[in-house]
Amino acid sequence: MKIAVVGAGLAGLALAYHLKQINQDFDISLFDTPSLKKASDIESGLVHPLVSDGSRFCFEGKKALQSTLRLIDAVEKFSGKTVSLKEPIVKLAWTNREKQNLSLLARKHEGLCYDSTNKKFGQLFISCARTIFVKDYLFFLKSLCLNLGVNFIEKVVTPSELESSYDLVILAMGANVVNYPEITQNLPLQVLKGQTLKVKIQRQLPYSTISKGYIAKTKNPNEYFLGSTYERFFDTDQEDIELAKRQILIKLSNILETDQVDVLSCFSAVRVCNKQRHLPIISQIAEKTVVVTALGSRGILYHSFIAEQIALAAKTRRFAIIKKEFIS
Ligand SMILES: Cc1cc2nc3c(=O)[nH]c(=O)nc-3n(C[C@H](O)[C@H](O)[C@H](O)COP(=O)(O)OP(=O)(O)OC[C@H]3O[C@@H](n4cnc5c(N)ncnc54)[C@H](O)[C@@H]3O)c2cc1C
Repeated sequence: MKIAVVGAGLAGLALAYHLKQINQDFDISLFDTPSLKKASDIESGLVHPLVSDGSRFCFEGKKALQSTLRLIDAVEKFSGKTVSLKEPIVKLAWTNREKQNLSLLARKHEGLCYDSTNKKFGQLFISCARTIFVKDYLFFLKSLCLNLGVNFIEKVVTPSELESSYDLVILAMGANVVNYPEITQNLPLQVLKGQTLKVKIQRQLPYSTISKGYIAKTKNPNEYFLGSTYERFFDTDQEDIELAKRQILIKLSNILETDQVDVLSCFSAVRVCNKQRHLPIISQIAEKTVVVTALGSRGILYHSFIAEQIALAAKTRRFAIIKKEFIS
């Protein structure tokens, strides 16, 4: 079976990997181009299975996280390199309601531990969470796919040009998909620009921390990603460091003194989100064409899980086996 995957971000790479894993004989071409922005390149690498207010787990969050962790293990085993921090992420609670939510959740689920000893905020330690070094992860996942026999083709493709040469075309094009209205016209998509700041902080923080904004650890002990913006209205996907500083530093002002923070750089990209629910969308838009989009802010949580399901659907030729919550 000849399969084209368009896009080598988190979604496309996980697809190529799982398709090859499920059937080594699948002939897979993965198309991408350095001329387009990749949201995956600039993300901060935080992955955990909770919804944003921490009140419950995401849909299939535990299974999705397990799938991501298996893929990270495979990448680390293949490369011999560490691409993630195997330590908890801490979620802070400021209001009484948030504190109650987090402490209740911790009482119900293993792997969550709530600490109320700090007078100002509660702390939920999410021990199954990870902070991923995303650039390294993507680099070695691509190498792993090459090793498995995936063909990488550097080219901007028009989705329709592939249908005649392939048995299955999977579009994992990130934000560029919205430039093809024929693909997205019936999908409930919203685009949000996101910016992060890479900063130096003199004191070392023990864990990646999620508060109103977040602080994500990196490979370098004093460097962190601070995030993020969620911009509905924007003229360009380029960085606007002043706006990023204004919006991000204020969210973290409860836990970081601005004068402790030395801003090194700013990164921006556009996320595609599902307007109806915070879940990725898988849609069969033509007999041989499937689009995978709307990974939103949870690309790391869901990329491997949805790719596994699509790979199984390709093997069994039964699109219906994909979880209906992801189908649009
Ligand atoms: C500021 C910011 C911070 C974030 N932080 C986190 C985080 O901490 N944790 C988390 O889980 N998620 C995070 N995210 C979300 C995450 O980045 C996305 O969910 C994820 O990267 C989307 O992956 P993707 O593969 O769908 O798209 P992309 O990574 O954008 O990949 C799409 C690829 O398709 C290629 N492409 C598009 N059109 C064509 C074409 N016609 N021909 C050839 N190639 C094409 C592009 O070149 C690109 O490489 C963050 C996002 C932003 C913006």
